[in-house]
Amino acid sequence: MNSDAICSFCGKSQKEVKRLISSPDTLSFICENCVDICKEIIKEQETKKMQKFVLPTPKELKEKLDEYIVGQESAKKTMAVAVYNHYKRLNYNLNTTQDKVELDKSNILLIGPTGVGKTLIAKTLAKILKVPFACVDATTLTEAGYVGDDVESVLTRLLINAEYDVKKAEMGIVYIDEIDKIAKKSESRNLTRDVSGEGVQQALLKILEGTKANVMETTNRKNPHQETVELDTTNVLFICGGAFVGLNNIAENHKTEKNLGFISNSKNRKSKVYDLAHNIGPDDLIEFGLIPEFVGRLPIVVTLDELDENAMISILTKPKNNLVLQYKTIFKIDGIDIDFDDDALHEIAKKALNLKIGARGLRTIMEESMLNLMFESPSKKEKQKIVINSKHIQNPKTTKKEIAIVS
Ligand code: ADP
Repeated sequence: MNSDAICSFCGKSQKEVKRLISSPDTLSFICENCVDICKEIIKEQETKKMQKFVLPTPKELKEKLDEYIVGQESAKKTMAVAVYNHYKRLNYNLNTTQDKVELDKSNILLIGPTGVGKTLIAKTLAKILKVPFACVDATTLTEAGYVGDDVESVLTRLLINAEYDVKKAEMGIVYIDEIDKIAKKSESRNLTRDVSGEGVQQALLKILEGTKANVMETTNRKNPHQETVELDTTNVLFICGGAFVGLNNIAENHKTEKNLGFISNSKNRKSKVYDLAHNIGPDDLIEFGLIPEFVGRLPIVVTLDELDENAMISILTKPKNNLVLQYKTIFKIDGIDIDFDDDALHEIAKKALNLKIGARGLRTIMEESMLNLMFESPSKKEKQKIVINSKHIQNPKTTKKEIAIVS
């Protein structure tokens, strides 16, 4: 390099700085101080871009959730506050003022039976906030090096859903379902290494807490040469969910032990699985099989209620994209007006409840009930108006003529 070279930005000579980097054509130079300043400018611009994130208030979030999720009032409220705080904290930490108090992240644990809206709440919040969302099943994960997906694959999904925009992915929400299935196996049975239980919990600790993870760009594990990108999980919100069957008994026992002198009357115990869930404490989760460090990273515990018949009917008819509306639309496309009377709705709800898979059962019953009509009706030339009644739902195989009112 020519000894007269000076930094094209600050004008300092080679003697005044440690390094002077030349452009490929050797006509311009930059010193290491100016490189640092440029880095700062770029970082500030990125921060400003991220700060454009408009955060609705907890009330607004709850109101939006109400449009899609029936019931689960306390869960929606707690989630709205938790998610609001998470993104408020993110905005605050991004503000590069000195002497600030670093706010720690609070991930969330959702406890409730299957099909009651755990995933739906998480997904809907991500949609409202327009942040990337990824949903993974904890049972597919194993400790690194074993058959199954490494925990980092969770982040690969987030990156894919963020269309490979790392900055966007770093503000996303990850929902890990069936987290209760990676509970520690009981000591006595655990003669082999618990790679899909405790091992996965251990592996998840770091990404839940916040780490710079090396993330594969695709979920294809067969390609060992694929590129990895660095993704910082400090601001990723992790929501773990599970049914935790049996947790209520653990909590009840703990509660009874704590209430010395109080003898619980088993006849008075309510039979609903999640009655006690509102009193779930860290000790209950640890006894269930979550390791203490894992429980520590999920400080917000939210419980969801079982759905009853009325809730099921509301799910059929109230949310923005409710099932009744969806089926009406499907028929409408073929020029058929279809409606359901009240008894039919009750019957669908009852049948779905019997399946014991929560609101997921509604679609199963609807599909089963409407199959014959969906098969026959499009072939009819005349305009049709069909009102589905309870008999049709009870016996969906009978033909339209026998049971549905046709005009
Ligand atoms: P899980 O609790 O097992 O995560 P999901 O949230 O995936 O259950 O619910 C399955 C489906 O059932 C949802 O996609 C939605 O259609 C319906 N659903 C469940 N609970 C509710 C609810 N409370 N309000 C509206 N729809 C619900």
